[in-house]
Formats: sequence, structure tokens, C-alpha cells
Amino acid sequence: MAVGVLALQGAFHEHTVALKKLGVEAVEVRKPEDLEGLLGLIIPGGESTTMSKLAEQYKLFPALKEFEITGKPIWGTCAGLIFLADRAVGQKAGGQALLGGLDCTVHRNFFGSQLNSFEAELPVPSLVQSEGGPSSFRAVFIRAPAIIQKGESVEVLAYYDVSSTLSLEGDEEARLEGQSVAVAVKQGNLLATAFHPELTSDTRWHSYFLKMVQKSGDLVNVSPKQTNPL
Ligand code: GLN
Repeated sequence: MAVGVLALQGAFHEHTVALKKLGVEAVEVRKPEDLEGLLGLIIPGGESTTMSKLAEQYKLFPALKEFEITGKPIWGTCAGLIFLADRAVGQKAGGQALLGGLDCTVHRNFFGSQLNSFEAELPVPSLVQSEGGPSSFRAVFIRAPAIIQKGESVEVLAYYDVSSTLSLEGDEEARLEGQSVAVAVKQGNLLATAFHPELTSDTRWHSYFLKMVQKSGDLVNVSPKQTNPL
């Protein structure tokens, strides 16, 4: 099973290391043809405007969209989450091209600047149900986005309690009301996390994604049912 990692910029190497650790072939994707034969794709963290510009420059958008439409699993981490979202706020002037597909509005720098980067223990019941292990996940947030609005088909896998965060660029109101924002979501074959699992030694999110890939690969390989001529 070969899984791609979009390798235009950002933390792609760390994802390939995690995939190899789990015994999976990791392919760095820079050109449209690199996607051929891959069963899943990870879009790493980094800087989403730069990533968008490079994806445009390398003419990757149509191939990525096709990959997504055919239902092959894609996991976006941090900037990758922004890239996958249908809507993003807090963008630089002029906006940025998004792959979209994930019915969410993302605030690009919800948790503030690089200086506001932090780690937090997140309760992750769905992850534990699937992968076992400790009840929480130590999540690394770096200039992190958050999901501030989502469609009905989007399942939240982890929340972050914003009442405990002192400085937020994204949603002052949510903080004052002591609400939570979604920081890990799933919609069909799309997975997105606002944090960086590839920067920790806990590979449960990678295993979780690989199960999605395995499942969708199995479905692709099922031969169509014979139709009864009568
Ligand atoms: N907020 C950053 C952006 O807009 C993403 C940060 C990250 O991927 N660590 O691209």
C-alpha cells in the first residue's frame, strides 16, 4: 500500500517517517503524475498560502481534485486542514486557492502567531475506540487554525476548550463564552487535524488514517457484482 505526502513545503518529511515506521511505502508528491497508483494522500502542515501558490505553479490542483473526487482518503494536518477546507477566514489580502471538499470554515491563525504555539492533551474518544492507547493525545499546535463552523456531514473527533486559552486571534466571543472549537474532524474519506501528530512519537492518527486508506482500497478492489441476465 503506497500513500503519498504532498511535498511542496512544510513538515512532509516527518509524515513519511511516521508512515515508514508503520510499514507503509511513503511517496513524496510534487507533480500530478506522482499521484498515480497512490491509495491515500497526506497534506502536511507548513504555510498554507505558500503551499497553494506552489500547487498552482506545479499545476497540481486538477489532479488533487480528481484524487479527492474519486474518494481516495486525504488527511490534512494544520496548513493541510486549511487547504482541504471549503472556506477559510483570516487569509492574507487576495486570499488563497483552496482544494476544498471539507464542509468547514477554518480560521487560518485561530490560535495566534508562532509565539502562541503550544501543546495540549486532547480527549480523543474516537481515536481511542479505533486505535486503543491513552485516552488523550498530546497535540502540538503551531500557528494553528481551528474549525469555527462545520456542515452536518462533518464529524468532530477532537475539541479544544478555548476558555483555557489566553490569547486568541480567531474568536474572542467563543473564548468569553467558554466554548470549544473543533480541532480534528472527519467527513467521509477526508480527515483533518489542526495540530501536528507527525511531530510526536504517538502514531495513532497515522494508523487511524491508514485504516481509512485500507478500507477505501478494499472497496476499490471489490469486483462489480455479476448482474443476473434474467
Ligand atoms: N496557520 C498556518 C497557515 O495559514 C498553518 C500553520 C501550520 O501548518 N503549522 O498556513
